[in-house]
Amino acid sequence: MTAQTGPTIIARADHPISRQDVDKDTLRVLYRLKDSGYEAFLVGGAVRDLLMDRRPKDFDVATDARPRELRRLFKNSREVGKRFRLVHVFFGPKNVEVATLRSAVEAAPVDGDLYVDDDNEWGDLESDAFRRDFTVNALYYDIRDFAVIDYVGGVADIHAKLIRAIGDPRVRFQEDPVRMLRAVKFAARFGYTLEEKTAAAMAELHADVLKANRHRVTEEFFRIITQANRAAGLRLLAQYGLLADLYPDWIRAIGPDGLEQVIEFFGRVDADAEQERYYSIELLATGLFVPLLDTVDPARDQFNRVAARVTQEVRQLGIRMDLPKRLINTAVELLRGQLYLLFFAHKEQRVARFVESPWFDPTWRLHLLAFGGIDDLAPLRSTWLAFRRRISKPIGGMVPSPDRRDIFSFRGRTGGGRHNGRNQPGDDDDGEWTEPELVDSGEDA
Ligand code: ATP
Ligand code: MG
Repeated sequence: MTAQTGPTIIARADHPISRQDVDKDTLRVLYRLKDSGYEAFLVGGAVRDLLMDRRPKDFDVATDARPRELRRLFKNSREVGKRFRLVHVFFGPKNVEVATLRSAVEAAPVDGDLYVDDDNEWGDLESDAFRRDFTVNALYYDIRDFAVIDYVGGVADIHAKLIRAIGDPRVRFQEDPVRMLRAVKFAARFGYTLEEKTAAAMAELHADVLKANRHRVTEEFFRIITQANRAAGLRLLAQYGLLADLYPDWIRAIGPDGLEQVIEFFGRVDADAEQERYYSIELLATGLFVPLLDTVDPARDQFNRVAARVTQEVRQLGIRMDLPKRLINTAVELLRGQLYLLFFAHKEQRVARFVESPWFDPTWRLHLLAFGGIDDLAPLRSTWLAFRRRISKPIGGMVPSPDRRDIFSFRGRTGGGRHNGRNQPGDDDDGEWTEPELVDSGEDA
C-alpha cells in the first residue's frame, strides 16, 4: 500500500475530469466550502465514473468541515443518519450529499448500519480513503487545483479494469460482507475483473454474506439485476456461491437449468437495455421465477391448479428471499398471466377480454423475454397479438428509463405505471390486484 509514500497526485492536465462534467449544484457546494476555508473534494462513484468517461449517477462531496459547520454554511441543509452523520444540501427537489472526512475506524456492521458509533470520529483524506471499499471508489477530485488524489492505486486499477479491495480483502469482507456483493456489482457494471486476492477472499468467505443485513443484501442484489450487464452479474454471483448462500430455496426450486434460463432472461433484458428498451423492477424480479413454469403442459394440466401451485411457490420463495410483498404480488400476477396466455389462446372471449386488461401488456413483455424464443409458441403468440392489435393504443409494459427505484420504497406497480403517467394496475393504495379474469372456474379449462 502507498500509505507511507503518500498519495499519487494526478494534475488537471493529466486526467480527463472537467468541471463541465460536474453537476452545477455540486460545484456550488464545493466552491462554497473552498471559499470558506475548508477542504472540499468530489469523491467516490462520481470521480470513478468521470475517469471512466461515464456519466455519474450522483455526486458526493467530502470535506473537513464538521456537520455542524456545514449546517451553518448551508441554510438549505439537513443532517441525516444517526450513526454516521451526513449533510444533505438541498437544491429544489435534489440534494447534494456532503460527508465529513472520516477516520479509518473499522466498520463492523451492526443492525444493518454500515457504520459503528465510534466511526463518527473524523479523520483526514488519507484515513477517509482507506476505509472505503474498493480502490476505484476511493479517489478524490480536489476543487482547489482540480487534481485527482489517489492513495490506493485506484487510477491504475481503472486502467487495468480491476476491482480490488482496499487493504486485506479477507479483513474487509469480514468487516462488511455486503462488500462482496458490491464487488460483483461493480465488476459486472463496468465489465471489470476481480483482482486476484479480492477474488480469492470471496471464494473463501462467500458464506459470510449470510451475516449481513438482509435489506442491504436485497438492495445490492436488485442493483445487480437492474444495472447494465445483469447476466454477467448473476453469473458472478453464482460462480462465487453467493446465490446459493443467499437464496438456497430458490436455487433448489429452479435447478441448474432454471438458473441458466434466468441468466438468459437477463441477457435478453441486457440486450434490450442496449437498445434503450427498459423494464420495471417488478417485471425483472418476475424473471427470477420463470423457470417454475417449465413443467406446465396446457394439454394435461388445469389452469387453476397450476396457477395455485405457482402462486404458492412464488409466495413462499419470495418471502424467504426477503422480497417486498408488493413485488411478490406482482410477480404472481405476471406469472399467472403467462399461464393465461398458454391456456386460453383458443378461447376467443377470454383473449378479447384479457388483451383489454391493463395486465396484458406487461404480461406480454414478460412472455417475449422469457419464452419469445420458443418456436412452438408462435401460433399462440399470433393469436394474442392479433387480438391485441385491434386495440389502437401501442403495446406498453415498458418504462422510459432504467428503473432505479429503491425496492423497499416503491409502491406496487407494474409496467412502469409511475413513469408513463398512465393508470396501471397496482396504482391503487394497497398495490394489490386481483383481476377476476385470471381466476378460472375450471369448467372450461
Ligand atoms: P453507485 O454508482 O452505485 O452509486 P458508488 O460508488 O457511488 O456507486 P455508493 O453505494 O453510493 O456507491 O457509495 C458511495 C461511496 O461510499 C463508495 O464509492 C465507497 O467509497 C463508499 N462505500 C459505500 N459502501 C461502502 C462499504 N460497504 N464499505 C466501504 N465503503 C463504502
Ligand atoms: Mg453513489
